Amino acid sequence: MTRAMNPKIVIIGAGIGGLTTGAILARQGYAVTVVEAHVYPGGCAGTFYHQGYRFEAGATLAGGFYPGGPMDLVAQAAGIEGWPAHPSSEVMRVHLPDGSQVTRYGDERRWEEQRRFFGSQSEAFFRWQEQTADALWDLALRGPAWPPQSVAEGAGLLVAGGGWLGDRLRTGAGLRLPGLALDAFTPVSRHLAGASDRLRLFVDGQLLIAAQTTSAHANALYGASALDLPRRGVVHLKGGIGALGETLAAALARNGGEILFRQEATRIRVEDGRPVAVQTKKGLEIDANRVIVNLPPWNIAGLLGEEAPARLKRLPPQPLDGWGAFTVYLGVNSAVIPADLPLHHQILAGRPLGEGNSVFVSISPDWDAGRAPEGMRALTMSTHTELASWWELFQRDRPAYEARKEEMARQMVAVAQRALPGLQDAIHLCKPGTPVTFQRFTRRRWGWVGGFPQTSLFRAWPPRLMDGVWMVGDSIFPGQSTAAVALGGMRVASGVASGVVG
Ligand SMILES: Cc1cc2nc3c(=O)[nH]c(=O)nc-3n(C[C@H](O)[C@H](O)[C@H](O)COP(=O)(O)OP(=O)(O)OC[C@H]3O[C@@H](n4cnc5c(N)ncnc54)[C@H](O)[C@@H]3O)c2cc1C
Repeated sequence: MTRAMNPKIVIIGAGIGGLTTGAILARQGYAVTVVEAHVYPGGCAGTFYHQGYRFEAGATLAGGFYPGGPMDLVAQAAGIEGWPAHPSSEVMRVHLPDGSQVTRYGDERRWEEQRRFFGSQSEAFFRWQEQTADALWDLALRGPAWPPQSVAEGAGLLVAGGGWLGDRLRTGAGLRLPGLALDAFTPVSRHLAGASDRLRLFVDGQLLIAAQTTSAHANALYGASALDLPRRGVVHLKGGIGALGETLAAALARNGGEILFRQEATRIRVEDGRPVAVQTKKGLEIDANRVIVNLPPWNIAGLLGEEAPARLKRLPPQPLDGWGAFTVYLGVNSAVIPADLPLHHQILAGRPLGEGNSVFVSISPDWDAGRAPEGMRALTMSTHTELASWWELFQRDRPAYEARKEEMARQMVAVAQRALPGLQDAIHLCKPGTPVTFQRFTRRRWGWVGGFPQTSLFRAWPPRLMDGVWMVGDSIFPGQSTAAVALGGMRVASGVASGVVG
């Protein structure tokens, strides 16, 4: 084995969570090495080249860039002067099965006009959602770590929570405290009693992409915050969402850290209950006294083997819930895309959501010429899909797997035509991807993406797994989305740097 000598922090995976942590720790003077199996950063939020196109692999909607928002805080902590971000006033258009459309705007007044579509009784729901999200953001920005994992984090939570509580009691917002307490243990659907089916479907569609579950199961506090993302505005990134990972990777390098691409970690070597090195498939062994793993728990269990802590050993053999993604990457003639069309669409064709019945479509901006050959645009479409049946077909009957893949892609194009009439005839290139494809390109076992559905405030894991080993990414609180994993990365960086716990 080749051996790198200096003990240091090794981060496994250059997803947004791993890169955020690495860029911040490197700026604070730690020796950081990131090993990344793939040839580019970003993972589920990467952008890949194919036949002249730059396709967004998974994530397409980029939020949290407003002043004081998660991506702004990350930029300050990591020494990033600016993201290559173009703000967009139209966040997304949601298409309902009856042909009606609602556009989500970042601008408050325009969004209030749009939501009148759901009828006057829906106002109570949106008011609850916004007030709850505002209260939680106020708390979140005071920096408490949730769930706390050490005495110091517990104390920080008490201080932040105490200040928050005091402010609310002083301003009269304390009247809402009993409601917030109840929301901590009940689902979003408690606030949809008597709502129209249209509103329920709209909320379920939005929650599925933001909380990985629908209103009957999504925790009310988590759901209110997840539904708030569009209200706080989104941006389009020049070059696609992969620009997030590229910007973070450049900051990491500027701050003195290094990324080794094409280095798949195969083992975390542990001695006396602490990590001592990370080994890679290509025979590199990198000394480490802290290892931060940017992967789901099942992958981490594999990397630690017998040395895994009890919580990882107790995992069910496969995730019992959560999702895979079915994606379709399309190169289309730009003539089919009207100049004033929003660039993100959620098309709801009916229940149950997912499995091609709900399709998220994102279109490369016309100003971003590098995303597609001249006269063309790059589209990414995705739908939630259940994992087991894809793997069963893949292993048992390859022709049937290929046929199902073709059929699902065809169904999604048909659904997407509601937002883009004429799409089918404008397609020049069509490349579908299943959970098997996602496992191949992100190494996430079974292609399990999006983290744990947010059914309870305790569902996502805390980050510290054992002495010296931390998890970062969408399996830790606050869960999935580029902004959420960036926030999780900030917490891990601060936990590792505080040195209070290993
Ligand atoms: C289809 C889809 C659509 C989405 N849409 C949105 C959206 O619109 N907006 C949004 O904000 N979020 C969206 N998300 C969620 C978002 O993409 C993720 O929550 C987030 O990007 C996950 O980041 P992560 O830090 O957990 O790392 P991941 O993205 O999981 O990255 C992990 C990295 O680790 C690397 N790796 C894996 N194993 C190894 C190993 N053994 N050794 C070395 N490297 C390894 C991988 O190659 C990868 O680069 C979407 C996700 C999907 C799948």
